[in-house]
Amino acid sequence: MRAAVIKEFNAPWALQDMPDPTPGPGEVLIRIEASGMCGTDVHVHHGYLPCKPPLVAGHEPVGRIEELGAGVRGLRVGDRVGVSWVQKGCGRCRACQTGRELYCPEQQSWMQSGGGNAELMVAGADGCTLVPEGLDPALAAPLFCAGFTVMSGYRNAEPRPGDRVAVLGIGGLGHLAVQIAHAMGHEVLAVTGSPGKADEIRALGADEVVIAGDDPGKALLEAGGVNVILSTTNSARQVGQAFEGLLPEGRLVNMGVVDGPIQIAAFSLMMGQRKLVGSTQNRRADMVEILELAAAGKVVPQIERYPLSEVNAVRERLVEGKVRFRAVMTPN
Ligand SMILES: [Zn+2]
Ligand SMILES: [Zn+2]
Repeated sequence: MRAAVIKEFNAPWALQDMPDPTPGPGEVLIRIEASGMCGTDVHVHHGYLPCKPPLVAGHEPVGRIEELGAGVRGLRVGDRVGVSWVQKGCGRCRACQTGRELYCPEQQSWMQSGGGNAELMVAGADGCTLVPEGLDPALAAPLFCAGFTVMSGYRNAEPRPGDRVAVLGIGGLGHLAVQIAHAMGHEVLAVTGSPGKADEIRALGADEVVIAGDDPGKALLEAGGVNVILSTTNSARQVGQAFEGLLPEGRLVNMGVVDGPIQIAAFSLMMGQRKLVGSTQNRRADMVEILELAAAGKVVPQIERYPLSEVNAVRERLVEGKVRFRAVMTPN
């Protein structure tokens, strides 16, 4: 199979032929139709994650099952599936026993068996979720990291009908968060540092585009304040500032890998009984929910399509902040 192999960190990924993988017990072999590129892949490129070359990245893969390993039940050859980051846990720890594999210290991911930047990949069957027929695999791919992350973030905010929802940072994650909040009937305020994106963002369903300026919290207060902030920015400073834009009992859900400690004033936290919520890809039901929203056309990932052979250029484009809003690659 053809694959984009990371042979060393901070060096171009090598497009080369590799032996076809075979699925072990509890695994499936997937013929990849689409593979999204996430900001985390840039961290992989720099060697910031606990994995070692040679490895094939890509944790937003979608494709058809070509072969089942021993003991796989439910999934069938020909099914279109996507694979989540966590594919399985040890099965024995308290987290696994309570169905919370995301907390398993021995969880398996693409880092052990290879990701979707290839023609074929093997994955734990438990990490696969069926993609609704009729949904373009290239549109489904970004849902397996970006979409799952923001759907869980939205649910972790414990939103109530009528809540005003702000989305901080309108990129790969944020552009989906705007659409989710809009689909759920909220008034949506999109907070961006790029006035040039305003028309695009309104088209996604934002009722108001708030220009962050040098203080997104102040900008949100001037816009009347919000009950929920879905934060996808990488800036710890912006997160701390945006917190001040919450109304009493508001919740800020942080989904970005921010660049340092988040500072929040004690009085702002206490007196308003506000919450800072950490969030990651949580329940499998969130993954299914975002797939259903996409299949219904209520959330449509805005993607740029590339052949896998352009993987290095795609990564550079992502680093330069030029991608609108997710890049998806297809083999051949
Ligand atoms: Zn990701
Ligand atoms: Zn476990």
